[in-house]
Amino acid sequence: MNKETGPVGRFAPTPSGRMHLGNALCSLIAWLSVRQAGGRMILRIEDLDTERSNFTFSREIEQELCWLGLDWDEGGTDADGHRYCQSHRTAIYDVYFEKLREKGLLYPCFCSRAELHAASAPHRSDGRFIYEGRCRNLTPEQIEEKSRVRLPAWRVRVPDREIRFVDLHYGEYVENLVQDCGDFVVRRADGVYAYQLAVSVDDARMGVTEVVRGNDLLSSSPRQIWLHELFGFPVPRYGHIPLLLAPDGRRLSKRDGDIDIETLSTKFTPEEIVGMLAFSSGMIEKYEPVKAQELIETFSWEKIRREDVCLPQMIFER
Ligand code: GLU
Repeated sequence: MNKETGPVGRFAPTPSGRMHLGNALCSLIAWLSVRQAGGRMILRIEDLDTERSNFTFSREIEQELCWLGLDWDEGGTDADGHRYCQSHRTAIYDVYFEKLREKGLLYPCFCSRAELHAASAPHRSDGRFIYEGRCRNLTPEQIEEKSRVRLPAWRVRVPDREIRFVDLHYGEYVENLVQDCGDFVVRRADGVYAYQLAVSVDDARMGVTEVVRGNDLLSSSPRQIWLHELFGFPVPRYGHIPLLLAPDGRRLSKRDGDIDIETLSTKFTPEEIVGMLAFSSGMIEKYEPVKAQELIETFSWEKIRREDVCLPQMIFER
C-alpha cells in the first residue's frame, strides 16, 4: 500500500492540558496501525471549547508527539491558517447543522442542568444518562415563550434503530439509538458545536478512514456512524483501546499530575516511555526501551490487551 491508497488516521488531541500517558498510548496505537498499512496521519486540534483550550497546549502536544517519535503528514496548528483546528471550522459545522434542520431533525432544548437531571433516565448498564425528550414536542408558542428566558441548546432526534459496527479491537458493538442513547446535543446553548457533530464532520471531510481512541468513547461511535450515514459520508473503521490505570488499578486522570509527558520527559527517554506503553498494552513481551518506529513491523491489534491496562510501578518511582 502507498500513502495515497492506504488508510488515513488521525491524532485528535483536545488542548485543555498537557498530553498524558493515556493520550500517548492512544496516539502510539493510532500511528502504528496506520503506518504499518502505509497510510497517512492527520493532526487535528480539537479546540472547540475555546474557553478550556489553549494554543500553548496545542504547541506543546505537537512537540510531545514529535518527542515520542510520532509524526503526521497533514494538519497541526500552523497548517493552512489553522484549517485543522476545530475553532476555525465553525462555518463548516454550520452547513451540516443546517442540513439537520432541513431534514426536520433538530429541536431546541431549554432544559437547565437540574431539569436535565430530572428528565433523564440512567442507562441500564453503564449509568449513562439518556435524555427522555422533555423538549422534543414543544409547540411554536412554548418555544417562543421559553426563548425569552434562555438560549436553547439544539438536539437531534435519533431514530429507533440499531447501529451495529465491528470495532477493530472489541469486535461487534450494537446500540439502539433511542434506548441506549436518546436525542443528543449537537450545538450547545452558547453556540459552540458539540463534539459528536464536529468530530463526525471533521473525520468525514478530512478523509479519515480509521479512528483510534480510548474505549471511553466506544459508545460515541454509533452516534457518529449514524451522522456519517445521514450526511452520506463513508463510515470509517473504529478501533477503541484500553484505558490506562495506576499500578493499583485506580483510573488515571490529568489531576494525577506526574503522568503527563512533560514531567515524564525530565525523567525518562522517549524510548523508555514508548517501551513502557508497548509492554503494558501487550505489544511487546518484556519491557525494553524501544523507538516507536521499531514497533511498526510487528504491530498487531491482536496483541493489544482488551482489559484496561495497569502502568508499571517504575513510572512513579524515578
Ligand atoms: N479530542 C478527544 C480527546 O482528546 C478525542 C476524540 C476522538 O478521538 O474522537 O480525548
